[in-house]
Amino acid sequence: MLPKSILIGGVRWKIRELVKMEEKGYAEEDELRITICKKLSDENKRLILLHEVLHACVSCGGEEKKTYTEEEFILRIQAPLLGFLKTYSFKD
Ligand SMILES: [Zn+2]
Repeated sequence: MLPKSILIGGVRWKIRELVKMEEKGYAEEDELRITICKKLSDENKRLILLHEVLHACVSCGGEEKKTYTEEEFILRIQAPLLGFLKTYSFKD
């Protein structure tokens, strides 16, 4: 069961599940919304949620580059990811 919303970098993102989707999930930065395919298993929903949360962590750091060094990437996502992990548990 996915939460209705989550905090990423102190910003609240809405989460919704849709049945008819081309992708397994996507994150819309302008809407502050993550959409997950309802037909996935619970474990896959968690995996795709994490995937989209990581996209949100990258996008909330301001203007995005095409490529990052490993260090640049980790520095970019560390604060929003820590904030997210403090508020959400992936345990069953
Ligand atoms: Zn992706």
